[in-house]
Amino acid sequence: MAWFKRDRKPIAAPAEKSSRVPEGTWVKCPECGQAIFNKDLAANLHVCPKCAYHFRLGSIDRLRSLFDDEEWVEHDAGLRSTDPLSFIDTKPYTQRLKAGAKATGMLDAVVCATGRIDGIETSVAAMEYSFIGGSMGVVVGEKITRAIERAIPARQPVVIVSCSGGARMMEGILSLMQMAKVSAALARLSQARLPYISVLTDPTTGGVTASYAMLGDVNVAEPKALIGFAGPRVIEQTIRQTLPEGFQRSEFLLAHGMLDLVVDRREMKATIGRLLHLFMDDATPVRAASAVAAAEPAPSVV
Ligand SMILES: [Zn+2]
Repeated sequence: MAWFKRDRKPIAAPAEKSSRVPEGTWVKCPECGQAIFNKDLAANLHVCPKCAYHFRLGSIDRLRSLFDDEEWVEHDAGLRSTDPLSFIDTKPYTQRLKAGAKATGMLDAVVCATGRIDGIETSVAAMEYSFIGGSMGVVVGEKITRAIERAIPARQPVVIVSCSGGARMMEGILSLMQMAKVSAALARLSQARLPYISVLTDPTTGGVTASYAMLGDVNVAEPKALIGFAGPRVIEQTIRQTLPEGFQRSEFLLAHGMLDLVVDRREMKATIGRLLHLFMDDATPVRAASAVAAAEPAPSVV
């Protein structure tokens, strides 16, 4: 039962004025207000040509932006959630799954594929925010784990592009278990001396941040992406302090040592390609920067 009952009717929203411009032709940049032709925006990898605001990118467009010749082989596309808890909140979970599938043409919130990035065969997982907020349930965890396990015998590096609200509450503890499962697979990848590059995009939060998104040998983020565990409001209420400007955004996290790079999406493929060559071209076994730091004594400061 609600605590308060509204007696009066809520104020109605003003009726939308009809526009003569066909819907979906132009997009207004939320940052600078520039009207951008949809085709131009797509050609610019969904980055505002005027102010470089990064619009959210779908998983398929993401793969297109990363793989050479826009070619890849998709894996495990047929995996779907079974609604193990028969979960119902404001509507049944099965209905949410159906709506997500209808909106995206996918069965869950990640696409896993292998293809070449700058000539290097790579196992890539790209998350899809339009599917229940890119939340990580059993299927997402399993598909990403398989993408990592596929890479190990094939001696391929792994790239995971995160875009997620966190664990999928409709699958309860089963979704939380994916954090450990994916992290364990990444540990095996590391033991096999294969690199993992984590790409954090807006938003990367909750259980995804708390597991694989932050475990990259190199953690790369897109500009101004929201990256955090709990939301700023929850933190403010907990610590009873006002949070600083730009808190939980890529640039702030880079300045505080949580990220290695902040890279414009238009430079992302070239940057990842360079990193992969750095790790993979050398005949000697790959050692991640963190492993090197752990193995070697810190230089003494005089
Ligand atoms: Zn703009």
